[in-house]
Amino acid sequence: MLYQRSSQLFVESSKVIPGGVNSPVRAFKAVGGTPIFIKEAKGAYLYDEDGNKYIDYINSWGPMILGHAHEPVINAITERAKKGTSFGTPTALETEIAALAVSMVPNIDKIRFVNSGTEACMSAIRLARGYTKREKIVKFSGCYHGHSDSFLIAAGSGLSTFGVPNSPGVTEGTAKDTLLATYNDIENVKALFEANKNEIAAIIIEPVAGNMGCVPPKENFLEELREVCTTNGTLLIFDEVMTGFRLAKGGAQEVFNVKADLVCFGKVIGGGLPVGAFAGEAKIMDYLSPLGPVYQAGTLSGNPLAMVAGLQMLKEINADEELFTRLEQKTAYLEKGIREVLVATKVPFTINRVGSMISVHFDTRPVVDFETAKNGDNDRFKLFFHELLKKGIYIAPSAYETWFITDALTYEDLDFTIQCIKEVF
Ligand code: PMP
Repeated sequence: MLYQRSSQLFVESSKVIPGGVNSPVRAFKAVGGTPIFIKEAKGAYLYDEDGNKYIDYINSWGPMILGHAHEPVINAITERAKKGTSFGTPTALETEIAALAVSMVPNIDKIRFVNSGTEACMSAIRLARGYTKREKIVKFSGCYHGHSDSFLIAAGSGLSTFGVPNSPGVTEGTAKDTLLATYNDIENVKALFEANKNEIAAIIIEPVAGNMGCVPPKENFLEELREVCTTNGTLLIFDEVMTGFRLAKGGAQEVFNVKADLVCFGKVIGGGLPVGAFAGEAKIMDYLSPLGPVYQAGTLSGNPLAMVAGLQMLKEINADEELFTRLEQKTAYLEKGIREVLVATKVPFTINRVGSMISVHFDTRPVVDFETAKNGDNDRFKLFFHELLKKGIYIAPSAYETWFITDALTYEDLDFTIQCIKEVF
């Protein structure tokens, strides 16, 4: 494949945008080479500026669960745009999507919309601190909750890719209120509570981690977190930015049957437009401004374009009783195919998968937390990434990312992908 135009565009973007990109992991820094500039996308495929076609396993890092340029979503956006794109007033649309989301997700009465997953997590933490009148939070190494200051501490994903444990610019004062725990290690969490009695406002967790590759929670881990929180008057926050409306209509709360006090959303809930949200029981959510004292706001929050895209997406997901079964089957098929290839070629590997989230680590040891996620053979991953790319298979350009499967993928696409992986090895 030729990447002439992408290379030229990267030279030009690098002159006026730091690193040439508006979000670091796009830059291919972890895998080397020049990022590919995408011109358009449809269904399961991406088309770049040089005319190359790819099967897409990133899917905008999650939102495109029904495929790119999904017609009902595009039509809804197009029609709505003609009527104005932002008013800064309430609209009926916001109530419609809020009511639908509340009906789909267990244990939430009210939801507030923001513009990104970062904003959702940042606001949920502020609300938890205001509500509990405590300052510290527990976060897990390798979990990513967006780029707000409190979370940029051992934050997995992009930060691990770049080898930056904590970002400069985050003050010591902020960092000291974030207590780091080890994913899947309940004793470690209990020790933090013992050492910080009555000081912890919230535990925030990705109920299935997706930012150190895919790492599922061990059996009972989420239940035990729930218990620790309830015993200590601490709020349990599920960051379902990846898992929400992807693992099930009701997300990880539904799949694992564990109730969180606050839930954060992003990605799928916006149908590909910039949307995030956080939600919970009325007694907590009513602590937000203008009813309560915790301030949170946004000029473009709930804007009609974003809301209509999200609404159409949720409607489609809600109406399709087979969607999550299809996604599970397609991803399981891909997993089986990759396993067979890697076993036959004797490449050391671990595959983790929950529903339509899957990742391949090039190491045989189980991947259960951030430390074990680092065991993967990065050089092998780099080669794997580039060789697949040459064959028209686009996986995330970092070993710490999860692949997101879209319903637009056909079994022919999956067979082709498995065949390419075989050829690569
Ligand atoms: N939480 C999780 C679990 C995420 O994966 C991400 C983004 N990948 C975020 C929060 C932040 O979302 P955004 O990039 O929309 O700010």
